[in-house]
Amino acid sequence: MYFIANWKMFGDLRTLNSLDKVIKFSKTDKKKKFKLIYCPPNTLIRPLSKRLKKTKIEVGAQNCHESDNPGAYTGHVNSKMLKNVGAKYLILGHSENRQAGENDKLINLKVKSGIKAGLKVIFCIGETLKEKKNKKTNQVLARQIKRGLKSIKKKSKLIIAYEPVWSIGTGLIPKPEDLIKTVSFIKKKLGKTSPKVLYGGSVNSVSVSQLKDISSIDGFLIGGASQDPKKFIDIIKKIYN
Ligand code: PEP
Repeated sequence: MYFIANWKMFGDLRTLNSLDKVIKFSKTDKKKKFKLIYCPPNTLIRPLSKRLKKTKIEVGAQNCHESDNPGAYTGHVNSKMLKNVGAKYLILGHSENRQAGENDKLINLKVKSGIKAGLKVIFCIGETLKEKKNKKTNQVLARQIKRGLKSIKKKSKLIIAYEPVWSIGTGLIPKPEDLIKTVSFIKKKLGKTSPKVLYGGSVNSVSVSQLKDISSIDGFLIGGASQDPKKFIDIIKKIYN
């Protein structure tokens, strides 16, 4: 089961000290039941990978530029650069970036560049509240999958994160019966190549109780609650207790 921390634009070098608790906790997982991945801001990828070197916790990035080659793109980094400083995973298509203007075509280029660089892509999809109210969820997800993963052959190597936009940072989560249906729809769409499908959106140690029995979910992408080691550990403990 995956537990992926999306730190967004939070954290500095001092924040890394707080991870000792999580490192200690990860060592209790003798049966390798869970996989922990931290996706900090780019500034922390290198120091975090160094700190986690002798642990089973891995590091990822939160976005990249779509160009495989270096170039005059002020303020950007590409997937090769992220790999070079220690990232093994790459979140793409996050709704915060879609809302900032990233479209399916651009995300598709990024997915290709991430795969080419040897990163494991965490591909985020999800509907807005308006789309949900208009009963467009499946239509939106189908479009995001079709266009965002166009020409991607080894889809089984991806991780899909279903993150309803209306759920991110709001404290709202889908009804378990709706989530079961949506995850099943996503898995069907991806057919026999089906990758792991995670849920993300307001997961915390309370909401996770409503999600933990949904066996089709392969893990969680966690934003806010992942910045506090205790809250992050509590979520994992709730799953296994
Ligand atoms: C996210 O941003 O990917 C996310 C799931 O955020 P939160 O857990 O804070 O809703």
